[in-house]
Amino acid sequence: MKPNAFRITSAITAASLGLILASCAHHDAASVPMPPEPAPIVAAAPAAKAPPAFDPNAPYKPINLPNRTLEANLYIQTSAEYRALCFQAYDAMTNRVKELMANRPPGSRPAAVVLDLDETVLDNSAFQSFQELNGLEYDGRLWDEWERHPEATRLVPGAKEFLDTATQLGVNLLYVSNRVNAETTTAALVHNGLTVDEHHRLYLKENRISNKDSRRAAIREKYDILFLVGDNLADFSSEFTPAQNPKTVSDAAAAISERSAKVDANRAKFGTEWFVLPNPVYGEWQRLIQKHPRELLRSPETMTYPKGTTPLSPIPVPRQKN
Ligand SMILES: [Mg+2]
Repeated sequence: MKPNAFRITSAITAASLGLILASCAHHDAASVPMPPEPAPIVAAAPAAKAPPAFDPNAPYKPINLPNRTLEANLYIQTSAEYRALCFQAYDAMTNRVKELMANRPPGSRPAAVVLDLDETVLDNSAFQSFQELNGLEYDGRLWDEWERHPEATRLVPGAKEFLDTATQLGVNLLYVSNRVNAETTTAALVHNGLTVDEHHRLYLKENRISNKDSRRAAIREKYDILFLVGDNLADFSSEFTPAQNPKTVSDAAAAISERSAKVDANRAKFGTEWFVLPNPVYGEWQRLIQKHPRELLRSPETMTYPKGTTPLSPIPVPRQKN
């Protein structure tokens, strides 16, 4: 980790320590046995549930299933394979943008490449490291603190060279991101040698609308989109976004199959209209496995299981179609 990032981590750690301790005290108090409450004689009609009020002082949640994301984050930070995958994606984009720009008819509308930011252009894995080191779940307040330190953000390998080449070719670079703070986002890009100006624009989340379709549609009105770049399939189309978080294992398996089938149906777009960066830490895929990580593992049906071991139930997860 960079020294700056270390300092920030230390500062955040110190700031959050009090909250963690407060959280522990709260849990201790909660563990004192309380006398059972008498059963109500007449059941009250269920009141309409108001959304829980946001409490900025609520304790941070301890991480669910420790080590779940540890190795995934180490894959990003330490594996040369991650680096190679990013180069593979960005170098393919460089070739593609050169090819498309060489064949643009005169008088075409302005050309644009649309990119997501987090884990596509910006590498926030140090933020994930902070969560791991402190055993904390993601929390918007921690993310806000992270955004206030743009100097800790790095670029995904290969991004800078591609963005520079596209800029030289006269391509507009449009960042469609679900970040909300233009100032800190610009600072993170500028800190990493990138630009935000009339040819390098931000399309951030507004009015709490995470769906990026409307922003892409607005861009299409003015620009010819050469291709889209992201680490999450929702960076290409909202059709990949699961309608809701699954409640049961079979709901999760069905949603996983559905998502994969949509990828199969759009296979020709990958590497031509859509380019994907690897993100093994988080994404919409992870929402589908949250409560059932082990039950969704696929085990070999043909294997004879050793005595005393537990064969996993065969969940209908999709297979490669050849
Ligand atoms: Mg992203």
